[in-house]
Amino acid sequence: MNKNCTRFAPSPTGYLHLGHAASALIAVNWAQDNSADFVLRIEDIDQTRCRPEFEAAIYEDLHWLGLNWQQPVRRQSEHLVAYQGALSELQKQGLLYRCFLTRREVMAEINHAPHGIVDVYTGPNKHLSASQETELLEQEKPFAWRLSLSKAKEVLGDLWHDLEWLETGSGQSGLIKAKPEILGDVILARKDISTSYHLAVTHDDALQNISHIIRGQDLFDSTHIHVLLQVLLGLPTPIYHHHPLITDKEGRRLAKRDGSKSLQELRKSGISAAQVRGMVGL
Ligand code: GLU
Repeated sequence: MNKNCTRFAPSPTGYLHLGHAASALIAVNWAQDNSADFVLRIEDIDQTRCRPEFEAAIYEDLHWLGLNWQQPVRRQSEHLVAYQGALSELQKQGLLYRCFLTRREVMAEINHAPHGIVDVYTGPNKHLSASQETELLEQEKPFAWRLSLSKAKEVLGDLWHDLEWLETGSGQSGLIKAKPEILGDVILARKDISTSYHLAVTHDDALQNISHIIRGQDLFDSTHIHVLLQVLLGLPTPIYHHHPLITDKEGRRLAKRDGSKSLQELRKSGISAAQVRGMVGL
């Protein structure tokens, strides 16, 4: 049996903040308490937003916090071919469709449902005919690959109702029934990159034998899709622990736009790593 393993998987699109420190520290503490492995993964598929200096700062900040991780560090940008393989497997099962719409067109197609879910794309209002699609391809119009939830339901049959994961976080916990509809027909390969967060993360968590995923509550909804992808790709479903987000005194989530400080800034202002642990409640 594989040893238990958890991970911290930041995207180098900015400097790490207290929320990142919380995720990384909770994961490392868990690994230590459970004699499990801890890996660091750099989720840098979006090369337009990722920058080398942010990646360098991730290593620096985590070392400053006193963390160590296994080598080599997996950098997703170096494995696009592997994600292409996972995409092809789903394609072979007839689970994907091309989406040529622009973001604005997608928003226009989304039903502004009364329950307030405004950003979930549930599939095209009108499917393209084969000749329309060929025409768009001939015009080299860019397209994304989306996962068709209706096809997935068809392929899984009764298994669809068994989609679930074990959650150990302090919010909703226990066996959670996965409801992929919450996120709709998600993009699995973006127009500009041949993969997406959902596909790459699902692929890598399985490849790296991650048995316990520890991450912020903001990613809870994504798990509904990740569990579906695991089943469609024949991959195991890990145990999930979504931890509460770090909030300010008023209970508001800390975000960069509100002037919340990066770990670099905190360090420069004389705050110690031990104080950061205290600030995230550890
Ligand atoms: N790369 C993601 C982020 O920085 C986290 C992915 C995950 O933990 O599943 O938000």
